[in-house]
Amino acid sequence: MTIAHTVHDLRTRVMQWKRDGLRVGMVPTMGALHDGHLSLVRAARAACDRVVVSIFVNPTQFDDASDLAAYPRTVEADAALLRTAGVDVLYAPDAAQMYPPGFATTISVRGVSEGLCGGARPGHFDGVATVVCKLLMQALADRAFFGEKDFQQVHVVRRMVTDLNLPVEIVTCPTRREEDGLAMSSRNRRLSPDARTRARALPQVLAHCAERIAAGHDVADALRQAHAALLSAGFASVDYLELRDARDLAPMTQTPTTPARLLAAAWLDSVRLIDGVDVAADIQETV
Ligand code: AMP
Repeated sequence: MTIAHTVHDLRTRVMQWKRDGLRVGMVPTMGALHDGHLSLVRAARAACDRVVVSIFVNPTQFDDASDLAAYPRTVEADAALLRTAGVDVLYAPDAAQMYPPGFATTISVRGVSEGLCGGARPGHFDGVATVVCKLLMQALADRAFFGEKDFQQVHVVRRMVTDLNLPVEIVTCPTRREEDGLAMSSRNRRLSPDARTRARALPQVLAHCAERIAAGHDVADALRQAHAALLSAGFASVDYLELRDARDLAPMTQTPTTPARLLAAAWLDSVRLIDGVDVAADIQETV
């Protein structure tokens, strides 16, 4: 595995692959890698000839300086994991490489970036869209792999790729979970042992709420009960807990008859956890 720190080094490598007719897969990450990230790497390896993984803790997508400062950074361990996983290039630019002096461009995706995490974290998706666009163009990736755990992010990235005609195919992968159901996340390592035990309530409450909604219970009532269940399980606050159309993120207030996703973000101590599950809707085919 080669480690590239500059666009020039990355491009030199990728251009040679392109000349050889090889397909390039990319997995953008912020590091502190876990098996969720590695599942994307496995998908990329299966679908592409060469795989680039980027690690860049992108300052512009953090709305809170203390969250950015506390974000775990484990570069050596990450590099070892990626080497074992068969990654060809680890791209680890520094902030000056990504945002040179005078940097003045922002990509802002309307619609799908509003509400949910976009509502709770102003400017977050501008930062995500801008950095993902840069990373995809820097690596000249043919395919890029994203986790459904960040469900709204996938919608933002897909919208951007469509709107800007970026020549890259977006592939999504299911959420990897710990044995007790907690979605794997770099932020989990910031949970105290006690908070880690309580964290399992998030997927449990979501699964139960999704079942109730699928069974035809009143949606607003099911959401209210789930919200209360999170607070009584020890979550300090809930940023959002909403039912959305899985295809365009439109809010849903009735028992779904089209693919739906239950999405939540909640705080446990000073750690913000997000998760989402499909609601097994009784889908009516329109003929
Ligand atoms: P991050 O490092 O948190 O920015 O995540 C990098 C990529 O890994 C994003 O596409 C995430 O959606 C994906 N990812 C993070 N956690 C998981 C998980 N538990 N399962 C699958 N993909 C994940």
